[in-house]
Amino acid sequence: MAARCRSVTGMRGIAAVPSYVVMQPTTLCNLDCAYCYLPHRAADRRMPVAVAEAVAAAVTPWAARGRFSVVWHGGEPLAAGREHLAALIAAFPAGVEHHVQTNATLIDDAWCAFFAAHGVRVSVSVDGPAARNGERVTRAGRPAYDRIVRGVAALRRHGLPFSALAVVSRPTPGLATELYDYFLDLGCDVLGLNIEETEGVNTRSNAHDAAAVTAFWAELVAAWRRAPRVHLREVEWSLRYAAAVLDGAEGDLLPRQLDPIPTIGYDGSVTVLSPELAGFSDARYGDFSSGNVLATPLAEILAGAAGTDWVGEFLTGVEACRSSCPYFGFCGGGHAANRYFEQGRFDGTETEHCRNSKIRLLEGVLEHARDHESPAR
Ligand code: SF4
Repeated sequence: MAARCRSVTGMRGIAAVPSYVVMQPTTLCNLDCAYCYLPHRAADRRMPVAVAEAVAAAVTPWAARGRFSVVWHGGEPLAAGREHLAALIAAFPAGVEHHVQTNATLIDDAWCAFFAAHGVRVSVSVDGPAARNGERVTRAGRPAYDRIVRGVAALRRHGLPFSALAVVSRPTPGLATELYDYFLDLGCDVLGLNIEETEGVNTRSNAHDAAAVTAFWAELVAAWRRAPRVHLREVEWSLRYAAAVLDGAEGDLLPRQLDPIPTIGYDGSVTVLSPELAGFSDARYGDFSSGNVLATPLAEILAGAAGTDWVGEFLTGVEACRSSCPYFGFCGGGHAANRYFEQGRFDGTETEHCRNSKIRLLEGVLEHARDHESPAR
């Protein structure tokens, strides 16, 4: 199936208009998870309202054309406080969808009322049952799980739908079923699973046995098919791709150009393509920023983003993927941050991340399909 992907024409260059922006209301996080990639999570550097206003000036015409999202990411975005987050949100026009990616530990009744009042959609980071959250600890090193669960209970009490995002540090037999059943009970309506990435200040290896990772994804599909009540991000994308291949339409599945996904740092700096690069610097690439919204309109920054040295190098890497990788039509060329943090540059191709989360994901879904193929066919 994957070998037919070489003619895929999407993902050429960077689009001038994003479909969403990522905003960092504060660098601070109240937790200290072992696998966290954020370098400044102990410092409370808050985004001035002027930064949100500058971003909103660019977003307003984009949002007038159709659906547009602002994702409040951290640090821990709720650590910015309700009053400050409300002031930042107020800069944006009505109709823009707001999302927060949160560790949930600060969520209480007052935050739930805030989410309802501002129409904020919540995504919770939690790695499964208590025993699977050993990496998620407070600054004092104590388990954060009970506080996470209290926050989720508040969301449920208030009838607020939420998504969940889990990090899988080591795929082992039985884990996918355990996780899927846990998230079914938790009550999330969308689930994303990330195999832990070597990224930022997290330098732990993410190399795993290929068969174990493929088996993890195959087992996840089996668990989902038994009770498909949660939207499973990775599996649904895989099935869409498989359906497109069967229809001979795999070349049309990827967007024509890469979404720039501008991440706006607390200080207004703009990092495109990979939020994980924001806040880092490198002797060769500088601070990865393509400009600052306090000095230059965001639309202008994005129009020139392809000229940023590392971005140009990444686009070369995407073309290398297109010409060499049979999974390109499914993957679209991977993520800039994974290239950089694994390979120290942007123009390479295969990474451990793409093996774990693209190649073996697709292989796992196909393995499940092969194992459950009807004998009559
Ligand atoms: S990032 Fe990896 S899976 Fe994706 S196209 Fe490149 S080599 Fe293939």
